[in-house]
Amino acid sequence: MVKLMFVSRTFKRIKITVRTSIAKPGNGQMARGNMKNLLLVYNPNGGKEGKRYLVKGLRGVLNHAMMELAKQREIEVCHISDKKTTQKGEPLLPEGYHLNGSCYPEEECIRHKLMGSLKKQSVVRFNPVIITSDNIKEEINDAQKVHLSTEIRNALMKDSKRSTQDFRERFIAGEFNLEIELLKELDQELLGFLLKSILYMPEIRWGASANNGAGKIDLLEVNLQEVTRTRTVKKGKVIEKESEQNLWKEMDEVLKAWK
Ligand SMILES: [Zn+2]
Repeated sequence: MVKLMFVSRTFKRIKITVRTSIAKPGNGQMARGNMKNLLLVYNPNGGKEGKRYLVKGLRGVLNHAMMELAKQREIEVCHISDKKTTQKGEPLLPEGYHLNGSCYPEEECIRHKLMGSLKKQSVVRFNPVIITSDNIKEEINDAQKVHLSTEIRNALMKDSKRSTQDFRERFIAGEFNLEIELLKELDQELLGFLLKSILYMPEIRWGASANNGAGKIDLLEVNLQEVTRTRTVKKGKVIEKESEQNLWKEMDEVLKAWK
């Protein structure tokens, strides 16, 4: 019997390189109410090494891309809503969709098979995208550097010169990687739908101010990969290694598998 010194896990993932010229993936208003901020994760050394923010909303972009793509191919999938109407009775469920999770388990649709709902866990896991300002000169490995900026929006009323809007919004610009881990082996049809939905993502806007031109994402690279991650301990220190291999041939086949 071979006794290995380390533990390891081999899995597939999709690694995507994304670029945006401006996006406002905000976390809503801050406590004082005049600034839409990014979600601050931590602030090493009192800000001297750059605040780290979590980028939100990319899973939502993929969910919407799946809905649009399925509709285009005339396939009914779960809507993101699990209610038919708002409390005021306004409709939430457009034609061509069913309520989130209502297809499960008897007639589970392709989006539910991948993304799940409260009834079933998803088989795709988004790794957190942590960003920091590209003003940071040091090499860092716990965040991706992008341009961070604050837009001050201010409008004065014509007569009184009183302010009608006075708030600040953070935006980000630049390139970053997004990794989606597959928690189980997917058949070609599921993987094909997932990959094509990723390719559809630039049609969906991300975050706020979409009608003013924010939130357009460009895909620079999409790679299906096999990843092996190993971990061992040497004199108390944990050593982690990751090797990745691009599965280009499999990706070509998979892209042909779903209509
Ligand atoms: Zn469904």
